[in-house]
Formats: sequence, C-alpha cells, structure tokens
Amino acid sequence: MSNHGQDILKAGITGGIGSGKTTVCRVFETLGIPVYYADSRARQLMVSDPRLVAGVKELFGEASYLEDGALNRPFIAGQVFNDEEKLRQLNQLVHPAVAEDANRWHHAQENVPYTLKEAALLFESGSYRQLDKVITVFAPEELRIQRVTERDRVSAEEVRARMARQMPEEEKLKRADYIVYNDGKHSLVRQVWDIHQELVGMSG
Ligand code: ATP
Repeated sequence: MSNHGQDILKAGITGGIGSGKTTVCRVFETLGIPVYYADSRARQLMVSDPRLVAGVKELFGEASYLEDGALNRPFIAGQVFNDEEKLRQLNQLVHPAVAEDANRWHHAQENVPYTLKEAALLFESGSYRQLDKVITVFAPEELRIQRVTERDRVSAEEVRARMARQMPEEEKLKRADYIVYNDGKHSLVRQVWDIHQELVGMSG
C-alpha cells in the first residue's frame, strides 16, 4: 500500500475507564495499525510543549511545575477538584495542543490503511469531529470496576467517582460507528478483525 498522511483514513477509539481501550488498541497494533495514545501523549505534552507549559503556568501559577520541570500533579488536581471552570480552562489548553500533535503524527504516517487515535474523552473533547470513524469499547460496569481496582490498586468508590465524571456509556454507544464488546464473552480478536476489514475496505 502506498499512501500518505493526508489520504489516510482517521479512526478513533474511546470507552469508559477500564472498558479496555488500550487492550483493544494492542490488538489493532498487531495488525500493523499505528495508534496514537492521546491521554499519555497529553501528559508528555504538558511538560514538553512550551506553549502549553506557559499556558498552564498562566492559569495556575508557577507552582504548577516542580523544580525539575515535572508537572505538580497533586497541586493541579487540587486546583481543578470541585472547580469546573478551572477544569474547563485546563482542557481548553490541553485539547487543542493534543489535537495539533495528533494531526502532525497522522500526517507523518505512510503506507497504512488507517490510523487510530485512542482517547478516553474523544466525544467530550470534540476531537471526534476530526475523525472519519469512531469505535466505542464497551464493558459492563462491574467488570470495569473489578479490572481497574486490580490494575490501579484503587477502591471501587474511587473508580465510580471517575466514571461519574465521564459521558454516560449509552451516549458513547449511540455515537459510535462500531462497538467492541469487551465483556469476556465476545472474542476481541474476532471483533477487531471485522472492524479492521471494514476500515481497510474504506481506505482509498
Ligand atoms: P483507562 O481508561 O483506565 O485507561 P482502558 O479503557 O484503556 O482503561 P485497559 O487498560 O485496556 O482499559 O483495561 C483495564 C484493565 O483490564 C487492564 O488491566 C487490562 O489488562 C484488563 N483487561 C481489559 N480487557 C480485558 C479482557 N478482555 N480480559 C481480561 N482482562 C482485561
């Protein structure tokens, strides 16, 4: 296949906390599909993108960063906790920076049928608008709580609190072009393979 960034189809993948987005992306990666992990990339950009760093300091002050340049996470978390306006302002800084970076990354790809952008807040951030197709990963709430409490060593209450801050699952399912059921009953490989075939069929 010979194509370049501007001609390559853009797909996105989302799902609630612990739904299995990253796990599903690993399957796409085994098929040779490049994946942009927006959440981890956002964390990198917050310490490496000079404009973003300046914006965060302007919003929260110099205490936002530690002496070694690392983000002062507890401080920022404290600033946005219970302050929706501050959180909105922070997102307004981070989301465009990530969108720009993701776009650059996409355009640098060559000879792939499509790219995949993984983000927990694909719909909430508005970044789905830049995508041709969106996949939602779904898993039942109890299973997600079990998976995340085991993975992150946090309490079920903490996971529920994080869930409450995200868009309801039904809404993400309604907006999806494809759904992957990661409930331990359906084969992930089979579902990913079917979606992959469809996306390959769509790519020029
Ligand atoms: P987050 O939004 O928190 O980043 P995520 O949607 O990316 O989560 P994963 O990290 O892929 O979810 O999965 C959550 C946890 O559940 C991980 O520890 C993962 O290994 C496990 N897990 C996911 N899917 C399955 C599965 N089908 N069978 C067993 N374990 C799974």
